[in-house]
Amino acid sequence: MSKTTFNMVVAGGGIGGLSAAMGLAKAGCKVTVLEQASAFGEIGAGIQIGPNAFHAMDYLGVGEAGRSKAVYIDKLVLMDAVSGDHISDLPVGEEFRGRFGNPYAVVHRADLHGVLHDACKANDNITLVNNQRVVSYENTANGAKVTTESGDVFEGDAVIGCDGVRSMIRQQLTGGDELRLSGHVAYRAVLKLEQMPEDMRWNAAALWGGPKCHMVHYPLQGWKTFNLVATFQTDVSNVGTNEPGTREEILSRFGDVCDRVRKVLEIPTEWRRWVLGDRDPIENWTDGNVTLLGDAAHPTHQYFAQGACMALEDSVCLSDKIQHCGGDLNKAFQQYQDERIVRAYRVVLSSRMLGKMYHAQGVERLIRNSVMAAKKPEDYYHSLEWLYGGTGLMSAAPQAAE
Ligand SMILES: Cc1cc2nc3c(=O)[nH]c(=O)nc-3n(C[C@H](O)[C@H](O)[C@H](O)COP(=O)(O)OP(=O)(O)OC[C@H]3O[C@@H](n4cnc5c(N)ncnc54)[C@H](O)[C@@H]3O)c2cc1C
Repeated sequence: MSKTTFNMVVAGGGIGGLSAAMGLAKAGCKVTVLEQASAFGEIGAGIQIGPNAFHAMDYLGVGEAGRSKAVYIDKLVLMDAVSGDHISDLPVGEEFRGRFGNPYAVVHRADLHGVLHDACKANDNITLVNNQRVVSYENTANGAKVTTESGDVFEGDAVIGCDGVRSMIRQQLTGGDELRLSGHVAYRAVLKLEQMPEDMRWNAAALWGGPKCHMVHYPLQGWKTFNLVATFQTDVSNVGTNEPGTREEILSRFGDVCDRVRKVLEIPTEWRRWVLGDRDPIENWTDGNVTLLGDAAHPTHQYFAQGACMALEDSVCLSDKIQHCGGDLNKAFQQYQDERIVRAYRVVLSSRMLGKMYHAQGVERLIRNSVMAAKKPEDYYHSLEWLYGGTGLMSAAPQAAE
């Protein structure tokens, strides 16, 4: 009889690794999650979560907990950072929720990660291990194993690489495909509510598009704080992440924006800086009993606000395929990969296009404003149907409770 209960090794304990663990446990697997850091955690910043991610969280059993941490914004707003003019709204209120079966919301990363972490800790089939940096994997006669920096070996029926945009598992699996540096740099800060100018305390995820730059803000943590992200294009070639940033650099990159934007960028006394990168799509991310998930599989720019949402979706898909593979993990991995590749890479490539649109200048900026201003809510909903309505998970989702 074929085997139906598997031991899985997950490399990386971010949103992808922990949601993968939940999905695998739901499929009856025993899971060991290896995290390189000394503690499981996330950076202090916000994240936008679409209805597709809430559908995934519902499947993984953390939907209610996730919704309890979220701020429910009314709309996504596009502003012109040069003129200060309002361009377009995408309402995400009742009609949106009714249509897509779950809300669009914003949440602190530590809260979202914490919900998954608590669920993993409470699950007897999941073991979380810190201070284990995976350096290599190997397919074995009966499964797969990883070796960590400390020389420890963890063996199972399969290995899932959830080790992020600079994944070691991917590096080995692909022979080292290049991180694609686009010259985009993101600065992040979290403001106290009272620091945010009163006339910009909107219940919205607002994006101010400027020449080769854009700024995003939204409320977080029950309206106690505001998340602020400022992104610009430059010629950087280093790949620094979460480094200290300087007010001088950020202001110099937002030279041509209106006073309202500039004044917000002058507020933070502490900025963190990320050099952003994605990777070109690949047609295969599986090697025998080893596969990839989340940013390790399809790292993307943040312009669609979908990277973590895709990791959550991956976890549902992998769980589902394992449950229906009749004990054949290779078949499950192939089906998982086939189903995810088009969807996840559509997000990667669409994000690149959105980046160009946000950073438009000259006549392109005028065209952007004119095209986007003409859009009605229905136009947006229709064009987002593939993303928010197309996961096949809606039937599993209860109505959002707030
Ligand atoms: C500025 C910005 C804004 C964003 N906004 C959004 C948004 O609004 N909505 C959204 O859905 N997405 C957003 N994203 C994308 C999202 O953050 C990522 O897609 C998501 O965090 C990927 O999760 P992951 O678990 O796959 O990878 P990661 O979050 O990178 O987690 C990888 C984990 O693996 C660990 N690790 C790494 N290497 C090893 C190793 N060798 N061995 C063991 N452990 C290892 C790391 O320490 C980490 O804990 C944004 C990204 C950026 C940069």
